[in-house]
Amino acid sequence: MLWLPVTPGEQLFLYLFERLGHKLSFQWTTEAGIDSMDFLFNPVRFQEFTQLSVSLEVFLRAIRSARAIYAQAPNTNPSDFARTIRRDLDLPSTFTNDKNFGEIAKRAGRVAHEVARDTGLEKSVLRAERKQCYLCGEKLDQAHNPRSKSSIEHIWPLSLGGETVESNLIPACKDCNDKRQHMVTWAWGPVQSTFEELTTSDTNPNGAVRLSLGLGKIMLKAQGIEGKPNTKTTLKEAAQHVWPAIPGLKLKTKHSYIYFEYFQEMENTL
Ligand SMILES: [Zn+2]
Repeated sequence: MLWLPVTPGEQLFLYLFERLGHKLSFQWTTEAGIDSMDFLFNPVRFQEFTQLSVSLEVFLRAIRSARAIYAQAPNTNPSDFARTIRRDLDLPSTFTNDKNFGEIAKRAGRVAHEVARDTGLEKSVLRAERKQCYLCGEKLDQAHNPRSKSSIEHIWPLSLGGETVESNLIPACKDCNDKRQHMVTWAWGPVQSTFEELTTSDTNPNGAVRLSLGLGKIMLKAQGIEGKPNTKTTLKEAAQHVWPAIPGLKLKTKHSYIYFEYFQEMENTL
C-alpha cells in the first residue's frame, strides 16, 4: 500500500496498483553499455514510475467505465459491476473473482458520477487550516497578501472518485490548483521529457517539474518507513507534514538535469 486511502477513487487506484504493479519487474544490470543509460539513473524510482503509469492508465479506464455503469443503472450489484468493467477493460479473471473489486469500483463510480460538492464544508476547512498553499507555500491570508487567491483542493480529484470530505480537502493557491488539475501522482509529471540545463540566474527547475516533485514529496512521506506500517499516512496528513511540498533545491548550474536526478535531490530534502 502506497498510502492510506481516504476516498473510493484512491481505493480503486491502489487496488489496481497492487495487482498490476507486481507483474512488472525491472532488471537492473551494469553490463557494458547499460550503465551509460543515464535515464535509468535511479532504478527504484524508474520501476515505481512504470508501475504508477501502468496502474494510472488502467485506473482512468476503470473509473470511466464505473461512472458510466453507475449513471445508467445505479442499482447494479457489485459483482455485475466487476464483470462489466472486466469485459470493458479486458482485465484478468482474478479481478471479477474478488468481490471487493466490484464493491470498490461501484463506490468509486458513484462518487465520480455524483461529483457532489459541499461548499459549506469546503469553506470551513479553508477557515480551519493554515493559510498557506500546501504546494508552493504562498500565503493565502488576505491581510498579508492582498493578491492571494485561495481555493480548496480535492487531494484526490472529485471526478476520479475523490469525495468532498475533510480529509480530502486542503487549501491551495489558485495557480497551483489550476496547474495541478487531475495530476494524481508524480509520475503524471514531465518525467520522460525533462532534460534541462540551468542557467546561472535560475537554480530551480521549471514549474511543471516542481509541481511533480511536490507531489512526489507528499507520496514519499505518506509511504512511511519500510517495515513500519504504522508510519503510513493519508495524503493530506503527509501534505501537512511537508508543507509546503514543492522543494527548494540547491542545484548545479551548467549541468544538464534529467527528471530522476531532480527526484533524488528532492528526496534529500525530506
Ligand atoms: Zn501554490
